[in-house]
Amino acid sequence: MTHHFAEVVVDIHNRKVDRSFHYAIPHGLKVELGCRVIVPFNRRTMEGIVVGFSCESPVAAVKPLLDCVDSEAYLSPELIELSRWMADYYLCPFIQALKCVLPSAFNVRRDIIVEALVALEDPHAQALILLDEEAGKLFAAVARSKKPVKLANLKKRLDKQSIARLDDLVERGMLRVSTQFNARMLSDGAMHKQDALAIRAKRQLTPEQTAALAAIQTAGQQPGSTVLLYGVTGSGKTEVYVESVRQVLQLGQTALVLVPEISLTPQIYAVFASAFPGQVAMLHSALSEAERAVHYLRILAGEAKVVVGARSAVFAPLKHLGLIIVDEEHEQTYKQEDSPKYHVREVAQKRAELCGCNVILGSATPSLESYALALTGRYRLVNMLKRVDDRPLPPVETVDLREELLTGNTSIFSHLLLEKMQDCLNRGEQIILFLNRRGYSTFVVCRACGYVVKCPHCDISLTYHQKLGQLRCHYCNYAEDAPQVCPVCSSHQIRYFGLGTQRVEQEIAQLFPASKVLRLDADATGKQGAHKTILDDFRQGGAQILVGTQMLAKGLDFPRVTLVGVISADSSLHMPDFRSKERTFQLLTQVAGRAGRGEMPGQVVIQTFSPDDPSIALARDHNFPAFFRQEIQFRQTLGYPPFNHILRVVLASEDEGNLIKCAQDLGGALRQELVAMPKSHGQVMEILGPAPSPLRKLRNRYRWQVIVKGKQVQDLKSVTGAAIKKLYQYSSTGGIALSIDLDPMGML
Ligand code: ADP
Ligand code: ZN
Ligand code: ZN
Repeated sequence: MTHHFAEVVVDIHNRKVDRSFHYAIPHGLKVELGCRVIVPFNRRTMEGIVVGFSCESPVAAVKPLLDCVDSEAYLSPELIELSRWMADYYLCPFIQALKCVLPSAFNVRRDIIVEALVALEDPHAQALILLDEEAGKLFAAVARSKKPVKLANLKKRLDKQSIARLDDLVERGMLRVSTQFNARMLSDGAMHKQDALAIRAKRQLTPEQTAALAAIQTAGQQPGSTVLLYGVTGSGKTEVYVESVRQVLQLGQTALVLVPEISLTPQIYAVFASAFPGQVAMLHSALSEAERAVHYLRILAGEAKVVVGARSAVFAPLKHLGLIIVDEEHEQTYKQEDSPKYHVREVAQKRAELCGCNVILGSATPSLESYALALTGRYRLVNMLKRVDDRPLPPVETVDLREELLTGNTSIFSHLLLEKMQDCLNRGEQIILFLNRRGYSTFVVCRACGYVVKCPHCDISLTYHQKLGQLRCHYCNYAEDAPQVCPVCSSHQIRYFGLGTQRVEQEIAQLFPASKVLRLDADATGKQGAHKTILDDFRQGGAQILVGTQMLAKGLDFPRVTLVGVISADSSLHMPDFRSKERTFQLLTQVAGRAGRGEMPGQVVIQTFSPDDPSIALARDHNFPAFFRQEIQFRQTLGYPPFNHILRVVLASEDEGNLIKCAQDLGGALRQELVAMPKSHGQVMEILGPAPSPLRKLRNRYRWQVIVKGKQVQDLKSVTGAAIKKLYQYSSTGGIALSIDLDPMGML
């Protein structure tokens, strides 16, 4: 059956036109599902994406499509369906979801190239130029350039009648038309790079790896199911991924391997590229546009059967997808911070459901959400509890900074850490020093007893506001005066806390003037590729000590590092966020996991004001299951995820007065909606705030937030949707930006 109408989502940012529109398909125009098209819209010419076809139109006056941009579709029906789900689930406009699924493909510009097959001096050519003015002009323009010319350039120089003769000249064998962009040539180049990689011998799997692989295979018989691979650091998860991918490829299917940040973990790409030479494509933001296009085309052509990539690679246009692997599934980078604020884990599972394949989530420190689902049987739990070759997990010692202070040591290094650093340097081995710090740190800690002031309602650390001399809760807006003496031990050593990598670097330079130090943090890695340079330098022994922030926790493998020191474990512990303990445990476990990965045994020293906090004590003992049991109780008591979903609405504006008014209106509207809900639903929902965001001012805009908690995502969305509608109807929302985040990973 022929379809007469295309359903098009127009590229316009306006929630009011967040739907598809019908356009008539002109005769002879080839339009496929997922193609970008040019359409008339409100007396303007806009781009849009075809998301469906129909034989009838709901309205009588239908305008025709003007043109089709793509010669083939980059969006499969499955990916269109995935976008539709994203728009609905994350409350974002459909076009935004579509563009998020498509972004890199949008950049694949395939220029049409014209070249002459006959010389200008050829008698046929001369005759043409003399006798057929229009065609002659076209031919001469191409032939004179002596190399292929872009059709777009010809269109600029020649009139329409000449261009219209292109087909004719191609048919007569005088001109040839092709795409320029020569993907094959470029990807051949990429291939050579791959060949240069050492092809690894296939390894003998350890018994745990063999068992894990078998369990994954069993799960594979149930399409759409998820396996959680909980494997301690160094247990050899990568090898399990490789063999699972091999099985999928043998079935003629393809696989997607997602990693948190590929530029920090180039090893994983190397592993796959050498295991499946010529069949692996890589997708991440640090690639140039041309490189990305090469990889894309290889995927579209079915040549690349395995894609290794970061977050957005979850949308890679692989056909016959058989497996999606999410490595380090607990990582925060899997959550997109811009709208649509999706989480890779959720999108991967939806995609797996749509195409009937499986998902493997892997981590040494699974997210509470995932491990809870594994324990209740929703995911299949696969454990790998030993390191490869029975290598020991590194012994971890904690140092109580309160006691260091009592001995009069005010330096940032404890006696123990200093001693171990000295030993390590004497042996000619390497050290990683980890500074647990985020962009800002303004909690109040008592340096004598370790006490941190928390909200009595939310059990979240209060944030210090210097100007007001106040402590404030960023969930519920509770406030109190900042104490002058510690309420627990009456010490005057109570102050807000913060420490930078530069300070650490300086102190090392004084203590160990002979050692070279490298620094890896956001400041040091501003330039693209800078962190790779730093890490390569360190790997090659260019420095003895590497100082860095949480970036260091991400799966790095340095065999010569035998000492890892955590300068202060506490900053992340007191982030104003209910996940602060989980994040601390993850960071410490992952950082500790960097020690002793090679033949030489490693050791770890953690300095802290709270050595007894479970997230620190249990990381010291490498005991994730015990940490989980402890933390899940806290989550249950306060109704945090995984027991509830959280929806966070942030309002931002330069005018804080009006902003607060709006935030209050929104809070009011939300509470009204909640009351109006049927009892059975409303009872399990809760509204917190409005309160200023922990980052109250960002890029000159003030930010206030309202948090909605509840069991059912659907309820959260309908209450919020209705309240926002009211807000726009009855309040003055001019200049106010609103952003919605379902199950946010950060609360700043
Ligand atoms: P994880 O990702 O679980 O932390 P890796 O996959 O990086 O661990 O493996 C840890 C180390 O063990 C790596 O150096 C890897 O090359 C090595 N390894 C993995 N599996 C085997 C095996 N079956 N035999 C020998 N070495 C292995
Ligand atoms: Zn105290
Ligand atoms: Zn509170």
